[in-house]
Amino acid sequence: MAVHRVGRRAILPGLVAMAAGLTGRASAGQASAGQADAEPALRIVAAENFYADVARQIAGPDAVVSAILSNPDSDPHMFEASPSVARALAGASIVIANGADYDPWMAKLLAASPAAQRRSLVVAGLLHRAPGGNPHLWYDPAALPALAVALTGALSAMDPGNAAAYAARLAAFQAGFAPVVARVAALRAKFAGVPVTATEPVFGPMAAALGLAMRNERFQLAVMNGTEPAASDVMAFERDIKQRAVRVLFYNSQASDPSAQRLLAMAQAAHIPVVGVTETQPAGTTVQGWLLSTLDAVAQALSGPAS
Ligand SMILES: [Zn+2]
Repeated sequence: MAVHRVGRRAILPGLVAMAAGLTGRASAGQASAGQADAEPALRIVAAENFYADVARQIAGPDAVVSAILSNPDSDPHMFEASPSVARALAGASIVIANGADYDPWMAKLLAASPAAQRRSLVVAGLLHRAPGGNPHLWYDPAALPALAVALTGALSAMDPGNAAAYAARLAAFQAGFAPVVARVAALRAKFAGVPVTATEPVFGPMAAALGLAMRNERFQLAVMNGTEPAASDVMAFERDIKQRAVRVLFYNSQASDPSAQRLLAMAQAAHIPVVGVTETQPAGTTVQGWLLSTLDAVAQALSGPAS
């Protein structure tokens, strides 16, 4: 039973205001007095920064967007919300959560500060996912486009005067995402059925979309849940590495579980290509660029070691 636990250790909440709307509105010289209307009225708070990036692309200058989880050096599974997170959510017009037990603190905080006008978009709900499945939904190629559509609807309902602008930005988002969809299809055509493994299930939804044959899933769930993997699962994983039964190993570059680290080192010693994936979008990227560069790394790894 996959329980996506939180709370092995606390991390500092990094509440990062992306404030997409502020650039180009008020330059440093103009930002003086009388700025009452300098900031858009709509505020969007996303639990995870890749969803905030989608929101920034759809809302443009018409909303202030912030993300709660954005620190690439922290493990989101360990997140514990602080009072500043609760305050940010209380002032939000739209909140975005992953759901699927990935960010249960969101539902708790929202229930603690009800607001009739606030819209809540939960990606697991948009994808009709039941609890208990792989919660790393942003690696499902359907997730971010579904969020973009839902967000366009929510923003247009709250701010009908800018509906045409939201629709135009949705079209731009979708055009930017088309290369991701095309890349997934091209990789699937080439590599479907190839056996791979992972120390954690982070990349699972994308691996499934690529048609890869994922092995050692029980081991991955144990690591994700912070429990000790069964000895038989560890042995099966080691056997896959020693016999080179897998072509790639995916690992979570934001987590440092000792048993996962040991298998990563074993795979590297066996010259099995490894690909690090993250639970946080790196700074200075877009979701489209981030997914494409990850798919590039996957393609290179699946093409095998140089030797
Ligand atoms: Zn995870």
